[in-house]
Amino acid sequence: MTSTKCLIIGSGPAGYTAAIYAARADMKPILYEGLQPGGQLTTTNEVENFPGYPQGVTGPEMMIQLRDQALRFETDVRSGFINRVDFSGSIHKCWAEDNTEIHAETVIIATGASAKYLGLPSEQHYLQTGGGVSACAVCDGFFYRGKETVIVGAGDSACEEAHYLSKLCSKVTMLVRKGDFRASKIMAERVKKTPNIEILYNTETVEVLGDGQVVTGVCVRSNITQEEWTVPCTGFFVAIGHTPNTDIFKDYVNLDETGYIKYEEPGSSRTNIPGVFVSGDAADKTYRQAITAAGTGCIAALDAERYLAAKH
Ligand code: NDP
Repeated sequence: MTSTKCLIIGSGPAGYTAAIYAARADMKPILYEGLQPGGQLTTTNEVENFPGYPQGVTGPEMMIQLRDQALRFETDVRSGFINRVDFSGSIHKCWAEDNTEIHAETVIIATGASAKYLGLPSEQHYLQTGGGVSACAVCDGFFYRGKETVIVGAGDSACEEAHYLSKLCSKVTMLVRKGDFRASKIMAERVKKTPNIEILYNTETVEVLGDGQVVTGVCVRSNITQEEWTVPCTGFFVAIGHTPNTDIFKDYVNLDETGYIKYEEPGSSRTNIPGVFVSGDAADKTYRQAITAAGTGCIAALDAERYLAAKH
């Protein structure tokens, strides 16, 4: 059993920023990296919109630097993941998958969210090669300037991302599997009115096509006529939703109807459990950016520090 003033769960920009602040405030944080060390950015190629990197930086490289910065101030960074918590007492108990028990005065949840993918082998292949599959238009759209892209999804995210892409790309083809959008009327209308967005209703993705390294098109099928054809593109964007990684907290921490953690008080990182704070995408279904996650990681560490100061 280990005791700590501050346990940080998650190793994306939110977790590491919380660690840097908590460590520099002498809280001697322990950080568990989780199932995907470095978080979602490790699946991104080039990050060009994080301030301070004028030449851009790759996602994995940025995460190594954030990790090094947290280690520099002696954060206890541990591989492994927390798979059980008990927030019923004043000391918060958490268990790692190897049964290590941690008693924490404060916990900062930075477990993020995972983008949903279609699960096609070809989609996963080009995601791994960095050859044209992405789940974040704001992150990667810039690389497809003047090119043709395809986006799958029909919710608010897909509409927002399609509209974002339409300003950069020569043409955006949107694949909507039903006869209409799930998105709010206003978002759907905006997409429908954009001249360089073509909407294919009742159309599903069969396969992402490419030369082994980069995407060259998408094979699609009408689920009415079963006809199949190829839509040429160099970028394939998946916008079919995210799953916040909050399952282990659901018995204690208030979640919204889609599983995101609810802030107890706007403008702070407090949850309904005293001493438990949240940062990053686990509580953010709107912005989902590395910089916003880092910002809320900072807020969570400052809130945790103030909570401890008031307690002792
Ligand atoms: P949603 O769950 O709302 O929508 C997911 C979309 O993906 C649906 O249209 C669904 O289709 C489609 N989909 C799911 N699986 C597949 C599949 N295998 N193949 C093809 N299509 C698929 O997710 P969002 O991320 O869009 O939104 C999540 C929440 O965040 C919502 O509450 C939304 O309102 C909110 N949000 C708000 C924004 C804003 O207000 N600015 C911006 C972004 C999100 P189907 O409809 O057929 O089920």
